[in-house]
Formats: sequence, structure tokens, C-alpha cells
Amino acid sequence: MGIGERNALVVGAGIGGLAAAVALRRIGWSVSVLERAPIIAEVGAGLTLWPNAVRALGALDLDVTDRTVKTVSRGNILTPNGRWVRRNHPEDVGVLAIHRADLHDVLREQLPDSMLHTDAEVTAVSSDGTVMCSGEELTADLVVAADGVNSITRRTLWSGDAVFQRRAVWRGVTPPESVWPVQESLTLGRGVQVGVLPLPRERVYWFVTVNADQPNQMYADDRREVLNRVGDWHDPIPALVAATPPDQVLYNDIIDIDPVPTYVKDRVVLLGDAAHAMPPDLGQGACQAIEDAVVLAAALADDDLPRYDRDRRARVQPMAAEARDSVKRNSNTNALAHSGLMLAARFIPPKAWREATAKWADWTPPKLPR
Ligand SMILES: Cc1cc2nc3c(=O)[nH]c(=O)nc-3n(C[C@H](O)[C@H](O)[C@H](O)COP(=O)(O)OP(=O)(O)OC[C@H]3O[C@@H](n4cnc5c(N)ncnc54)[C@H](O)[C@@H]3O)c2cc1C
Repeated sequence: MGIGERNALVVGAGIGGLAAAVALRRIGWSVSVLERAPIIAEVGAGLTLWPNAVRALGALDLDVTDRTVKTVSRGNILTPNGRWVRRNHPEDVGVLAIHRADLHDVLREQLPDSMLHTDAEVTAVSSDGTVMCSGEELTADLVVAADGVNSITRRTLWSGDAVFQRRAVWRGVTPPESVWPVQESLTLGRGVQVGVLPLPRERVYWFVTVNADQPNQMYADDRREVLNRVGDWHDPIPALVAATPPDQVLYNDIIDIDPVPTYVKDRVVLLGDAAHAMPPDLGQGACQAIEDAVVLAAALADDDLPRYDRDRRARVQPMAAEARDSVKRNSNTNALAHSGLMLAARFIPPKAWREATAKWADWTPPKLPR
């Protein structure tokens, strides 16, 4: 593909799709974003942004500092009855917690409304850059498939359905000032983890990760179900769950994909979860989607699309494999294995702990042309 051709269709307006649109626009491409939902929005949950993602946002001239809270991410560990196992300091790693909607807004604010198309469902993508969208045929020099873990693009042009990891997660964000102040924590039960992260405006993001026998489980009352499982865990966990409006408690299966052999096919590239959905245990999925966007733009600016494929697979696929391994460890209900996890959390020295948890944060984005 020649550099003179500069028109892209981005499929999906999640964090990955919007980041890609911002990055491609930055290098002078004309971009249209196609989103099947009637509105462009993110779910009501939090996200950890590791320093690698903060740097990638910086490469796009985006600063999220005033919408974030510094966190220790997996550094403050407790038992379900509230005994401290490990305490870290927020400066240790430089991770930020953000509400998903805020990150989404930061990206969206960079894009004119005329670029964003809602109710635009893509039903087919060809490697020559042709897209069927809501019954219309569109063509582009490049199609960026940022259509998530169940990407129709990946399933038709590549192969590979999402893989259910026999885990599921409930998430919620408390209304402002309802339960505050709260200290960040990760509480480890046998096969069950509860995370608590303060967000700006005195809101708190919490998640409860559990083992699940089958996908697509439906509960009549998700909040009640969460309280059944962790209602007797230490404070403030029960209060956080109880303060979250029941209709805002989210339940999702944990699904990922097997590694794909390439992220590029002619005029189509995979980006974000479509390319490398991974279990959330490392807190890096969205961070990687943002990295993808910057690396893609830099590769296109140099007219070197294969570099995007090479660089991104080399970085993300080992990370996704590690996230899968973490699932195995975190889902283990064996008492001995759990004691081993707790002992490791207690006795691993701070430097080694930081190196293990933050090893993927050590990444510098390529420079984009001005
Ligand atoms: C419980 C949980 C916690 C997580 N925590 C973190 C964290 O702390 N830090 C982190 O970095 N990551 C985290 N992640 C991962 C992160 O959420 C994802 O990696 C990221 O949101 C992926 O963004 P995306 O844009 O690639 O995909 P998505 O967010 O899935 O967006 C895809 C978009 O494409 C649209 N779409 C799909 N199909 C079509 C179609 N055919 N036509 C048009 N539009 C379509 C969808 O409507 C959607 O808007 C977590 C994930 C989970 C499940």
C-alpha cells in the first residue's frame, strides 16, 4: 500500500478504535469510525492505565492526569477477613486508575462528530479493504478492525472464536461520595479475587472475579449474587457492592483468544481485543490497544505496515500468554496453592514484586511525525 493513499475505516469505537482514529488522524489520514451501537460510550467500570499506556497517550499529546488517581495495582493485598499481607506505595510503579468513560471521552474529544458513525454495523470485511456496513458497501485504503474480542473481521478473515476461561467477573462503580474514603486493595480468596480502586470524584471501582462452569450465566439479581459470595468479606467490600445501583452491576465472562499468526492481511489490520484479547489479570488489555494505535500510525507514516505486525505480535503475544497463566493461578481453589500465593505475596521483596508486576510497563512509544 502506498503512503499517498490515506483513507481508513475503523470498525468499532471502543478505546482501541478511538485511539486508532486519533493516531491516524494525527498522521494526516482521513478516518471514519463505524460503531454498531446507537451511542458511542464505555461501560461503567474502572481501568488501570500502566505507564506504558500513559506514554502512548502522551505520544498522541493526550494527558489524563487530572482524570486519574495514582494506584499501586496489585500491591496492597489482604485476606478476606481483612488481614494485611502486603502494602506498597503508589509511587512504586506509577499506575493510574481511571473511569472507562473518562478515558473514552479523552479520546473522543479529539475527533469531530462527522467522523463517528453510530448504528453502523459491519457485517463483512474483505482483505482488499471493502466493508459491508448496514447494507452499504464501503471501501478504504486501510480497514482497522477494532471490533473487540468477538471481532467479525477476525472470525471471517482469520479464524478463531473467543475462548471462555471458566472465569467471570462482576464490576461496579459506586456513586460519588457514597463510600469514602477508601484504600486501594486486592483481596485474595481461594479462586475469588476482589479489587477495590478509588477513582476521581470520590467514586470507587470494585471487581469480583470468580470461577464459572459455563459462559453466559444469567443471574436474576447480580448485586445479590455478589453479596452472597463476598458479603461477609472485610470492610468496605460489602458496603461498596451495596452502594452500587443494582442495574449498574456488570457481569462478564472472561474470554480471550488464541494467538493469531499475523495482525495484517493486505488492507486489513487487527487492533486491540480483536487482535489479542487477554484475561484482565495483568490490567493491560486497553493499554495494549492504545499502544497498537500509536505503533500503527508510526508504521503507516513510514510506509511500513509489516512493522506493525512484527512489533505488536512480539510484544503482546507473550503478555497475553502470561495473562492466561495468571488465570490458572488465580482460579486455583486448592488450599495449599492458595497458601503458596499468600506466602509469595507476603515475602517477595518489594523490588522483585515491582519487577514482576510492572515488567510490561517498561515500553516507550515510537515518535509520530508532527
Ligand atoms: C473485567 C475486565 C477488566 C479489565 N481491566 C483492564 C484494566 O484495568 N486495564 C486495561 O488496560 N485493560 C483492562 N481490560 C481490558 C480492556 O477492557 C480491553 O482490552 C479493551 O476495552 C479493548 O478495547 P477494544 O476497543 O479493543 O474493544 P472493545 O472495547 O470491545 O470495543 C469494540 C467496539 O466495537 C464495536 N463493534 C463490535 N462489532 C462490531 C461490528 N460488527 N460493527 C461495528 N462495530 C462493532 C463494539 O460495539 C465496541 O464498541 C479489562 C477487561 C475486563 C473484561
